[in-house]
Amino acid sequence: MPLQIARPDQSVIVPLYGRVESAVAPGGDYLPMWVDWDDIIGVPYDIPVVGYGGKTVNYLRLFAAKASQNFDMAIFNHGDYIRAVQRKIESEMVSKVLYPTESVSFGKELRLVQEYFLVACGLRDITRRFVAQNKNFEEFADYVAIQLNDTHPALTVVELMRYLVDERRIDWEKAWDITRATCAYTNHTLLPEALELWSVSLIEKVLPRHLQIIYEINSRFLKKVEGKYPDDNEKLRRMSLICEEGIKKVRMANLAVVGSHSVNGGSALHSELVKTRLFPDFHELEPDKFNNKTNGVTPRRWMLKANPPLSSLLTDTLGACWITDLSKLHKLDGYMNDREFRARFMQAKQDNKIRLANFIKATLDVNIPPDAIFDIQAKRIHEYKRQLLNVLHIIHRYLEMVDNEVEPSSAQAFIFAGKAAPGYWEAKQIIKLIHSVANVINNDPRTKGLLKVAFVPDYRVSLAEKIIPACDVSEQISTAGTEASGTGNMKFAMNGALTVGTYDGANIEMLEEVGGDNFYLFGLKQEEVEKTLREGSYHPRGIYNHSPEIRQVFSALLENRFSPDEPDLFRWVVDKLLSDNEQYMHLADFKSYCEAQKQIVKDYSDKELWSGKAILNTARMGKFSTDRTMQEYAEDIWNIKQVKG
Ligand SMILES: *Cc1c(COP(=O)(O)O)cnc(C)c1O
Repeated sequence: MPLQIARPDQSVIVPLYGRVESAVAPGGDYLPMWVDWDDIIGVPYDIPVVGYGGKTVNYLRLFAAKASQNFDMAIFNHGDYIRAVQRKIESEMVSKVLYPTESVSFGKELRLVQEYFLVACGLRDITRRFVAQNKNFEEFADYVAIQLNDTHPALTVVELMRYLVDERRIDWEKAWDITRATCAYTNHTLLPEALELWSVSLIEKVLPRHLQIIYEINSRFLKKVEGKYPDDNEKLRRMSLICEEGIKKVRMANLAVVGSHSVNGGSALHSELVKTRLFPDFHELEPDKFNNKTNGVTPRRWMLKANPPLSSLLTDTLGACWITDLSKLHKLDGYMNDREFRARFMQAKQDNKIRLANFIKATLDVNIPPDAIFDIQAKRIHEYKRQLLNVLHIIHRYLEMVDNEVEPSSAQAFIFAGKAAPGYWEAKQIIKLIHSVANVINNDPRTKGLLKVAFVPDYRVSLAEKIIPACDVSEQISTAGTEASGTGNMKFAMNGALTVGTYDGANIEMLEEVGGDNFYLFGLKQEEVEKTLREGSYHPRGIYNHSPEIRQVFSALLENRFSPDEPDLFRWVVDKLLSDNEQYMHLADFKSYCEAQKQIVKDYSDKELWSGKAILNTARMGKFSTDRTMQEYAEDIWNIKQVKG
């Protein structure tokens, strides 16, 4: 890695395992001692992050896990070389593999060790700097802000308490005030399977002193709740940091909320649902703690670096101001009727499409006609994101053309990219389905030049930079109420794509900015999804019975038209989507999705109409710069001021 600077002189020791011995201090205070622990060394590596224009350099500090010398030598000297080597391998695994799952938590010991290792390294670094400045810990929160990015670092709350109480001998109440004033929590998902729960027995084994502190935080917290709501045992059960149903588990989200002075989601809708659906009791107790910070993306990467032809046009038209103040894109309104501007805008899009078509030809040997509508869904593969809904529509379009002989008015290329978590069977099968459908459609002479499907492998930021500028239609089709915010949606729209999307996450705020004429909205709203599923009244078989289109698509899947050599390969899709109360309600939105798609094909054939909508999307995405988001975090949560203008 270029410019990665090792700082072994600032290495930290991270204790793990062992047990707690109780003792009494001379003054009679309880004096717990964490003893017999193993340890891992955290070695810092600094990566300089140069700000735009080069006037600011911040360091991103990463930590590598190294086996501790002492421990190795002890075993080594006993002649147990195998165990010494194994111990080294195990210790260093802690920073070697990243759990790649998104929106699922598995409860694996190594993952807990990783989470604690990074929390411990980070906090030691922070407190070392603070102590070096000779400041008083009463003022800790005036100088330090810790943003918990999801629950993965939620042990920060416990580790900071352990440090203040056990190592600095600060009394509990004071330490708790400091901790809460320092920490703030951003929630990233409402999906229940993603909420982290760690079994009490695992935490006791890995972090015995931390478990004691969690119990102490919980008992003091529940006493406070009980004081306010006497005899409401249900409320106490719900708000407890410990889930007592089945084997006892620690609710990391509750810990993050209780230990923070601010709790936010990543879009207006999501932040509302954090209050009403995820943490209603906590919201009732401390309503002022909850707030929204709508996400953003950086225009330096997602426009300036990824899209040179559009960036040149914007700078020629507006000057360079838009790069550091994206709200300036509003000024494009004045160029809406400028013929040269419109021509250059569409030429930039065409250049990007040709570049992507060439890349797809080189990697997949699939020919994408550059005049086709580039309809793209690029994001992690997950059932809630509904790649399946997209595929059902593609199959529908294909069957319409080959079985019903319907002629489309514009050629369409459906492009996918996205990774599946290794253990997520359905996600992997969805990738298989997309490839299988692509194989049949791309080799059918009847749809030649009219319909193409491509799955571009290895989705990652560098690939996203190639794909996003080439997009005409951005697929943002999650079931309403499931996508916390999305950021892909913003990247596509600011590069002049139109969104076909549900009323979900930040889509809602994008729609507010661009207006309904420049956004293809479809599908049920969050309240409708919630009500139907709560009542258990979603029966997709009824929809299927009344929809010849869905029946035709499902028949093709069941007749193995996309899996001639593997009968029944995609039967699971039909079974799943037809099952009662299918949680992402694919079939409920199928009809309105197809109607939105039909409107897209119609609008695209009018080049002037389309280019106007595309320009307005770029012009009205100023809000979704992360500069605006960070300004809000700085002012509302971290309480910090800009040093210079
Ligand atoms: C932006 C981005 C994402 C997030 O996409 P969503 O559509 O918001 O889920 C995921 N992966 C990569 C590589 C990205 O650049």
